[in-house]
Amino acid sequence: MAVLDEKLHDIYDEVLKRNPGETEFHQAAYEILDSLGPVVAKHPEYADGAVLRRLCEPERQIIFRVPWVDDAGRVQINRGFRVEFNSALGPFKGGIRFHPSVYLGIVKFLGFEQIFKNSLTGMPIGGGKGGSDFDPKGRSDAEVMRFCQAFMTELYRHIGEYTDVPAGDIGVGGREIGYLFGQYKRITNRYESGVLTGKGLTWGGSQVRPEATGYGTVFFVNEILHSRGENFDGKKVVVSGSGNVAIYAIEKVQQLGGIVVACSDSGGYIVDDKGIDLALLKDIKETRRERVSQYATERGGAARFVESGTVWEVPCDIALPCATQNELNGNDAALLAKNGCRVVAEGANMPCTPAAVKTLTEAGVVFAPGKAANAGGVATSALEMQQNASRDSWTFEHTEERLADIMRSIHDRCLTTADAYDSPGNYVAGANIEGFTRVADAMLALGII
Ligand code: NDP
Repeated sequence: MAVLDEKLHDIYDEVLKRNPGETEFHQAAYEILDSLGPVVAKHPEYADGAVLRRLCEPERQIIFRVPWVDDAGRVQINRGFRVEFNSALGPFKGGIRFHPSVYLGIVKFLGFEQIFKNSLTGMPIGGGKGGSDFDPKGRSDAEVMRFCQAFMTELYRHIGEYTDVPAGDIGVGGREIGYLFGQYKRITNRYESGVLTGKGLTWGGSQVRPEATGYGTVFFVNEILHSRGENFDGKKVVVSGSGNVAIYAIEKVQQLGGIVVACSDSGGYIVDDKGIDLALLKDIKETRRERVSQYATERGGAARFVESGTVWEVPCDIALPCATQNELNGNDAALLAKNGCRVVAEGANMPCTPAAVKTLTEAGVVFAPGKAANAGGVATSALEMQQNASRDSWTFEHTEERLADIMRSIHDRCLTTADAYDSPGNYVAGANIEGFTRVADAMLALGII
């Protein structure tokens, strides 16, 4: 890693000391601090305890037991988390992840990143994140429902439309949000739509929310291409994952004329040179909840499934990592660059390792960090909250237009801020500094709390 600015080094040391073993959180904190040297040089009022030390310590961290009964009548115990990181700009806002790898360090890294991402959207939302080490894979609907009910039986006392507003993330989609919202409504006896986002359309959800993160990432790349006088037409794109973010990224790339030639899940990747048949992929992943390997079987000779290796072996013009953290390393980045890739945009949170970002940047590949590129999901969640507050619902077209405008504005502000800090074209510096400054100013205005 590069050497941190001296003023920020002590703060990073303190993060390491206070949060032992939480490597993903260390990585996320380092990545932000690494961009802030020129900012604290220009604005000493942000340094040290006044803003930076406070920012690295969550306002509240909740860890709880989640007991539930499986279909065989056995008692299962999971661990639940909610890290309420920063509410200077609005109620804590951020998703819930159900995956066996979830522990405090992952929830904290996601919550920390969420502060700056939410700030970048320009909307009144703070940052938080939650989850559990529960693995929904292979569980029946009834088991998922009982788990969600047990999880909400503790979580409900910590959330609310003016306090903390969770949403989905890995392993938490429309089905889970439904069970969580149902249990919240039952316990509180309130139809408080604004307490969760990602709801179904007939019970308080917003058009475009399921599509928003994937669409938003592609809108962001479209802005990058436009700023260079190009567009998606005929461009080859590789997407990792085949979950919510990946599927809707694929959909928007196809609508804009690009060709998605590969995608993946944790079991391997598929290559379909003529372009992925999205209707088939959606049926397999969204309806049948099967593995991506099934796609190759059902496409006959048109596609192949590769069990070993990495999806980044497939040559492309644009790569969109949309699965999980640290899924694209330095070697993958070198391979992408060697094969002619020109843009990498993070649909997932922190999918590129620090070595990957360095390699891409040195090779002249444009790199768009998740904080900026995948902010469309949370921005549309904020639009869902607006609709809930006004008891209104907007059309698909209107909502998508708002999303496209928000992504354009994030893109442009990243570039303007990068320019102002002598890092032209550097989306990492632009996103980190722009996101940080808005939160820092609000924290100063609200006093030492
Ligand atoms: P989903 O659960 O819908 O999909 C996740 C996908 O990633 C699946 O295809 C999954 O494959 C794959 N995946 C998960 N873990 C691993 C792993 N360890 N190795 C390889 N592949 C893996 O989640 P989302 O699409 O909602 O989220 C994807 C990413 O986007 C996450 O980083 C999330 O934090 C981020 N994000 C999501 C937003 C949203 O609105 N949903 C908003 C902003 C960011 P498998 O089924 O085999 O596990």
